[in-house]
Amino acid sequence: MSLRACRHCGHKVHQQTTDCPTCGGPTPGLTTGERTYSGLLLAALLAVVIVPLAVLFYGCISAFAG
Ligand SMILES: [Zn+2]
Repeated sequence: MSLRACRHCGHKVHQQTTDCPTCGGPTPGLTTGERTYSGLLLAALLAVVIVPLAVLFYGCISAFAG
């Protein structure tokens, strides 16, 4: 765990923490760019997981339907 300065108040916080213990700001250890990157990564991961599941699900429904 590395310490970063909170981007809201400057207090030292863990990089991975979700809320600053001092000011309560969200994701204090991440820069805006890192948050965007995490969001994109999460979206990509969801797409990779959900699309095959959706295809599989659709295949099952089609099989039941006829
Ligand atoms: Zn803070």
